[in-house]
This record gives sequence, C-alpha cells and structure tokens, in this order.
Amino acid sequence: MQLPKRVHILEVGPRDGFQAEKQWIPTEKKIEIINALSRTGLPEIQVTSFVHPKAIPQLADAEEVFGKIDREPGVGYRALVPNLKGLQRALVFKPSKVHFMASVTDSHSRANGNRTVDETLRDMEPMVPVAKAAGVGINGGMACTFGCPFEGRPPMEQLDRIVARYVEMGITDIGLSDTIGVANPRQVYDTCAHMLDKYPRVNWGLHLHNTRDMALANILAAMQAGITRFEGAIGGLGGCPYAPGASGNVATEDMVHMLHEMGIETGIDLDKLIEVAKMVQEVVPHRLDSAMVRAGRGHDLKPAPKAQQKVG
Ligand code: ZN
Repeated sequence: MQLPKRVHILEVGPRDGFQAEKQWIPTEKKIEIINALSRTGLPEIQVTSFVHPKAIPQLADAEEVFGKIDREPGVGYRALVPNLKGLQRALVFKPSKVHFMASVTDSHSRANGNRTVDETLRDMEPMVPVAKAAGVGINGGMACTFGCPFEGRPPMEQLDRIVARYVEMGITDIGLSDTIGVANPRQVYDTCAHMLDKYPRVNWGLHLHNTRDMALANILAAMQAGITRFEGAIGGLGGCPYAPGASGNVATEDMVHMLHEMGIETGIDLDKLIEVAKMVQEVVPHRLDSAMVRAGRGHDLKPAPKAQQKVG
C-alpha cells in the first residue's frame, strides 16, 4: 500500500467546531482549550473566524481569543476571514495564515453568504494584495467540493473553474471540503488524483466532515492518491446546518490514532490530544463523536482478569 511517511494536520475545532455550538462557550474556556491544543504538538490551529458577530454570535469574541491565547513557538495560528473587513480585523493579530472560503455551487454559496460563486471570488480579489502586503499566506477553501445539499455532486469542470480562479489570484494553498459529509473513498481518490495531476504546484489539503461515518476511509483514500495535509476538529466538533443532528468534522484524535497505528507520523502527542478532547467534553452539552473519548486507544492494555477461583 502506498502511504506517506508523515502527514500535516491543521486543527479547526476552535473555529469550525465552536461555531456550530449553540450554547455559549465562555471566552476563557476557548482560550484554555486552544492553549492546551498548542501543547500537543499540533503544527497549526485555526483559532477563530473574524465573521460579523451577528452572523455567528459564538465567535463574537474573536479579537479577545486571538489576542489572549499563548502562542507556542513553532505553532501556526490561523484565522478564517469571510470578507475584507474580517481580513483587516484578523491582520491586527498577525495570523500565520488566513483562510478564504468559496462554495463550489451557487445555491450553497447563496444560502451561506448571499452571493453567487463568481461574486464571492470577485470579492476576494482585493483581499489578496492586502494579505500579501502583510506577509500573510492565504488558503482558499472549496466548500461542498464533494457534494452540495441542493445540487448534489458538482461536476469536475466546476471544481476546476474555482481552482483556476484561485491560482489566477495567486492562491496556491487550496482546501477541498466535504462540508456536508457525503464524500465516499472512491470519489475522494478520483478527485484528489485529478487535482494533484492537473495542479501539481498547488498545496492541497482536505477538510472532511464525518456526517455519514466515511471520513477516516476518505482520509485513507486521499493518502493513497498522494494527499498529506488534513484538517480535523478536536472531539469531532462541528455540525451541518443541512443535516440536523449530524456529527461534525472528523475528530482530530481519531484521525491521529489511525495514522499512528498505521506507522504514519504526525508529530502530535496522542495522549495529550485525548486529554484535550476530554476537556472539550466538559464544555459542550452533548456527547462528542470521538472514538478516543468513547473507547480509548486501540492498544491500551488493561490488567488481565484474575483467574477464577474454583469453588468446591
Ligand atoms: Zn467544516
């Protein structure tokens, strides 16, 4: 089996995960969790989104969170920025990178941001030089790459069109997102193989939701196609507004567990990561979708039961 020796993981729980939580998470709890994540060996964390506080009240404390976290040397701290205003707010805090997001279908794009795909991409154009002037790299996300709740599976040409626009704008860090968790391993393999072949200079990443329990299988398929960058959310946080009750992103600790069991390096201390997932469990009012929290590591040994005493 062809597999990478090492993969790079971006933790998105504090953004993609927290934003899906209805019950307010106190700012100091968010900071505590991000600080704990910083000490697990994770190379990068997406801290928050500089979105309008009315759009996502849970992230209304973006400034305070970004301003107050302890920044560990060697860890990158990223922010999602939905528009120029958000970018300007983020740049104050010198993020290691900013994330832009476009949907690949007009209907999802309108539902999410009240803009067509083309309008969204056009709005990004003036943002690129602003980020570049500040020396901050950009990651372009592609929501609904593998399926849209309104239009189904987008044709490859539609994906290519967005990739081409990103590359034209000078954005060569691109994330393929399974926003609603509908991708299957064969589809992921084919899409990733196509992208790696057609755009070899793009730095590809994958953002998978585990809505239908296919995320880990999809990660395996993506690695076989040659992808080595993945996003995950601690505790499997995250949701999907179009699939009520759905689970969120692939749990970072479940992904790291699988990778380590397969002999693939991540640089992350899994025990510490599981401890953070347990901290998160204390903060959210629902059960996390995390195999590590539920069942622990696959090879944690338990004391063997004592031999039963024969009676009589
Ligand atoms: Zn997501």
